[in-house]
Amino acid sequence: MRIILMGPPGAGKGTQAKVVAERLSIPAISTGDIFRANVSDGTPLGVEAQRYMDAGEYVPDEVTNAMVRDRIAEADARGGFLLDGYPRTVAQVHELDTMLEATGDSVDAVVVLTVDGDEVVQRLLQRAETEGRADDTEDVIRHRQEVYAEQTAPLVEVYGDRGLVREVDGMGEVDEVSERIFAVLDRDGTGAR
Ligand code: AMP
Repeated sequence: MRIILMGPPGAGKGTQAKVVAERLSIPAISTGDIFRANVSDGTPLGVEAQRYMDAGEYVPDEVTNAMVRDRIAEADARGGFLLDGYPRTVAQVHELDTMLEATGDSVDAVVVLTVDGDEVVQRLLQRAETEGRADDTEDVIRHRQEVYAEQTAPLVEVYGDRGLVREVDGMGEVDEVSERIFAVLDRDGTGAR
């Protein structure tokens, strides 16, 4: 299974990605987590990415695409993966298509978590307190929502035209949301439940 998990910042993508990937025995690949690991290790990639992340902007496509290309070529991702936070731009969609075509693979489902805008900002402000992420200040949070609406929300239509979009209500308890995701994926024959 090759699954993409989408949703605005604060929709709970990271949490759900780990639960779903574990259930399906595939790696959860989070571009945000990979960038953050590089930032804390002080790698050249981290240095490059950090200024965009701190401002709530997207890291340039060339940088992000190259990173994903390397990651999905690793052995553990050969049989499938769940992408959390990628693709985020139309150009990234095309790049992912090219990467998968090279091995004759394709995306099986795009799960879109839907959430209430105000609730999401509250969740992120709470996360700012508990995790202390540099990009969780109120101004940056609002900017990230705008960037998502402009650059990433259009992907729902792109994948919708391919019949791949599965919208899931992202509000409620973590377990409830996971069950909803398993239910839609089960209809795609993943054996999630
Ligand atoms: P996330 O943890 O998914 O919220 O990502 C945190 C930050 O990493 C984003 O605000 C971007 O700056 C950067 N980032 C993560 N994924 C991507 C991507 N696919 N394209 C560009 N930037 C990304």
